[in-house]
Amino acid sequence: MANFLTTVIKAIPIGLATTFKNIFKKPITLEYPDVKPDLSPRYRGLHYLARYDDGEERCVCCGLCAAACPANCIYMEPYENERGERKAKIYIINEIRCIFCGYCEEACPEEAIFLGREFEFAKYNIPDFIYTKDMLLDNFDKIEKERRVKEGHKFIRKTRFDFRSPTPTMGPDDV
Ligand code: SF4
Ligand code: SF4
Repeated sequence: MANFLTTVIKAIPIGLATTFKNIFKKPITLEYPDVKPDLSPRYRGLHYLARYDDGEERCVCCGLCAAACPANCIYMEPYENERGERKAKIYIINEIRCIFCGYCEEACPEEAIFLGREFEFAKYNIPDFIYTKDMLLDNFDKIEKERRVKEGHKFIRKTRFDFRSPTPTMGPDDV
């Protein structure tokens, strides 16, 4: 009992000292969701599939992102459109399996798949985490396109190859 009382008597001033040491410091907590956190510039959030300026989707369903994915969470099936271009008929990312490593983004030769800055996509049902091509394109249209422009992110290749031309050329803005 005596030991217990001694411990308590010693602990109280230590605890009070800690309180007074921090009482005038700026709080490190945020009033989320009214105040959003400053994310690291390298933060990797919800995926999006990007488009060219004319609205055409950039993905050519080559499968490199799926091959690079260590979590095996990307699935796709291709089709050929009326211009003879290969596109994705089905493109799915299972965001529950995803470990947000960014390998898919690194592997993509078309600057099509990116991990955006969106982090508020909690849901109640597991099937809602299966993001289809339309949902991923929507993420670009509704969330990330404006941010890219504001933050000055530019695509390396701005126009798509014209595969109908006998000698396909790059657009004037391409580097
Ligand atoms: S971020 Fe990583 S785990 Fe997620 S889909 Fe891309 S490659 Fe797969
Ligand atoms: S997102 Fe990129 S790497 Fe993945 S299938 Fe489409 S073009 Fe290929």
